[in-house]
Amino acid sequence: MKLILKGHEYEIKMLLNLFFDNMQYEIVDKVCDIGISIKSIISDELYEVSYYEDGILKTVASFDKSIIDKMPYDSLEQRKISKRLLKNLTYKVAAEITNKNLPWGILTGIRPTKIVHDLIKKYGKNYEIIRKILREEYLISDEKIHLMLEIAESEIKILETNKNNEINIYIGIPFCPTKCLYCSFTSYPINKWMSHVVQYLEALEQEMRYVSESLTSKKVKSIYVGGGTPTSVNAEQLEMLMKMINKYFDVKSIEEFTVEAGRPDTINANKLNILKKYGVTRISINPQTMNNKTLDIIGRRHTVDDIFYAFSLARKAGFNNINMDLILGLPGETYDDVKETMNQIRKLNPESITVHTMAIKRASRLKETIDKYDLTKDITIREMIDMVYKEAKSMNLNPYYMYRQKNMVGNYENVGYCVKGLECIYNVEIIEEAQSIIALGAGSVSKIVYKEENRIERIENVKNVEQYISRVNDMIERKRKFFQNPENNIYK
Ligand code: SF4
Repeated sequence: MKLILKGHEYEIKMLLNLFFDNMQYEIVDKVCDIGISIKSIISDELYEVSYYEDGILKTVASFDKSIIDKMPYDSLEQRKISKRLLKNLTYKVAAEITNKNLPWGILTGIRPTKIVHDLIKKYGKNYEIIRKILREEYLISDEKIHLMLEIAESEIKILETNKNNEINIYIGIPFCPTKCLYCSFTSYPINKWMSHVVQYLEALEQEMRYVSESLTSKKVKSIYVGGGTPTSVNAEQLEMLMKMINKYFDVKSIEEFTVEAGRPDTINANKLNILKKYGVTRISINPQTMNNKTLDIIGRRHTVDDIFYAFSLARKAGFNNINMDLILGLPGETYDDVKETMNQIRKLNPESITVHTMAIKRASRLKETIDKYDLTKDITIREMIDMVYKEAKSMNLNPYYMYRQKNMVGNYENVGYCVKGLECIYNVEIIEEAQSIIALGAGSVSKIVYKEENRIERIENVKNVEQYISRVNDMIERKRKFFQNPENNIYK
């Protein structure tokens, strides 16, 4: 395929990719006599997208540019509208050629609900207008619009309580029992790395001390300990981590304290009691699937019985806010397998589930060995998503946050469902980029949010554990430099 694109390559390519599987393309200057050419241009008069086969024009969609030029918006807003319009035209041409419709329309970004919040700012809660814009300008299906609005409504309850001086803390513990097939996170096998854990925690403590001492004017709203699987470390090390968090942050006054206890084979009664003792309010036990054959394929080295056992231990330890992560589209899984997963999850009755759609990440083992696996078809994923939505609703779990990732099978979405009132604050804040997240540990990225300026600044830590341990002072220095720069206004 030949593409003739002027000044707007990236997003148009992403959109075309969704219509044409495994699209191989070349950017050229003019329509070619042989094969397929798609031209997407902005001229002085027109926005125009056209499709050619062997040099012959087959279909075209265009829009008069002067209409946009006359709109009473600043140049930034005009650019946004132009981009949207060109994507809209590209979508229409590609849909006509391929006879395919995308549930998410022209959306290629990862935060669909952000658009709803922006529209609410502009039009208030006039959902008729908002629905019309999402349907006609973004070409989103009614079903996904319903999901977006349902989630945005739920998020507003959290976002409305946000105060300017609040921050959220993320702490990364990058160790796991084994590496899952699809994983691209910073994660080190605990058996090989056990001897590094104490050094890692000591380095983390230095970073934690700096953050706590330098941001005394801020109130911590939530703490999220993720990874990796933080409960991979032994009980003594876990207690060291918990003590440290309690020493540097006023855990009693924060609204939510989550620890990912993701892999059931890393949990025991002792570790769960430690988490409870030090103020953890929410944990995650993440089966991904409740089918033993799939657990085996994805390299989890535990069984469905282990998940039931870990869950019962967590209940016994007093946890009444437990999340379970699931993935739709795991290699070899059918609709019936997912239905079985939901049947098992129903027995456990967790307070929330987070349902991901399989994403083939560049740095994963799955990507490297993809030919070996039987991946779920787009249409089946769509059916799985619909079924899980209904199942979650029937368990009294409602969608409360959502995001999308690159390279998701079928280009769908990840959705968090929960019992009303137990929405994970951290998840909503990070996805809506509504409050700053100060992130500590290897591979973590702090995000400083400047709401009024519509701006986000990032401070990155190194990914490698050994480098993090040896260079923790550099990591602290990066934060210090950022915090102390008056232009960054962090203490305001
Ligand atoms: S448990 Fe999570 S972080 Fe650990 S290897 Fe699996 S996907 Fe990666």
